Amino acid sequence: MESGLVELADGIRRVTFALPLGIDHVHCYLLRDGDGTWTIVDTGLGLPGAGQAWQAVLDELDAPVGRIVISHFHPDHVGAAAIVAELTGAPVHQGAIDHAQCVRAWGRERSLDRLTAFMVEHGLPIADADAFRADSETLASYVQVVDEPELLEPGERIDGWEILHLPGHADGHLALLRDGVLIAGDTLLATISPVVGLYNDARPDPLGDFLSSLARIVELAPRIAYTGHRAAIEDPAGRARELVAHHAHRLELTAEALDGEPVTAFEISHAIFPDPLSSGLRRFALAEALAHVEHLVGKGAAERVDAGPVRYAAAKAPLA
Ligand SMILES: [Zn+2]
Repeated sequence: MESGLVELADGIRRVTFALPLGIDHVHCYLLRDGDGTWTIVDTGLGLPGAGQAWQAVLDELDAPVGRIVISHFHPDHVGAAAIVAELTGAPVHQGAIDHAQCVRAWGRERSLDRLTAFMVEHGLPIADADAFRADSETLASYVQVVDEPELLEPGERIDGWEILHLPGHADGHLALLRDGVLIAGDTLLATISPVVGLYNDARPDPLGDFLSSLARIVELAPRIAYTGHRAAIEDPAGRARELVAHHAHRLELTAEALDGEPVTAFEISHAIFPDPLSSGLRRFALAEALAHVEHLVGKGAAERVDAGPVRYAAAKAPLA
């Protein structure tokens, strides 16, 4: 079996797996450590066949895997964690915030009811809620996480790679930085903007978090970013600036959507994303609209005027 392993730079390799999701592939990275082991960053989705695909990758390595690092708990990154841990015997390292969210999303107490109720509360039609449940169940069957990972702290170093906390796409999103190389996960993506959505059981202002993370990337000015999807980014600070501008524009569209009668986040999502979307993508759009309108609420420019469903309006006396 072809492993598809690609050497990007000395001691940095990438493997790409196909995904049956809105995005059709995910990249995972392998970093050669000074101690003669490999660090794997992200594991892909735990699809049937994931074990075989990973075994082909492992067969090509000249040294054992010392550890597995998870950038964030989304299924395409964490889904095969337990499979890769089993194959390699290596420990899984995950941020504390991310692990807690991972348990809420995929653990035994995971509550699809609470998440569905949250989406409906923000305007998702009941008919779409059923599709959401079905899709979520399928996805959950592809996620195999380890119960007790080693917890990583931002600022910690792994073989010289500094662990950065860059929240926004996920509350506990971690990235690795060494010698100007950023293993970025989904904090930056080429040609598409990482989803920044608000969900229940999460930090209240993911867009504010994301804008701070982008500012941090501008400041750090890495030479290159290897990302969770799509092509590597040759000018990460430039891409971060583009994403800041992109969200500024979306905030304007959100504010415009609050011009008339109070609206739900679902209705705002149609103002920001007017094109027809699959029900799965529309749910991402809803979470994204919610992140934007709640950011405006935090700034004093919008307010919640109704509950059940929650509706938003422009603030009566918006702050300057
Ligand atoms: Zn991803």
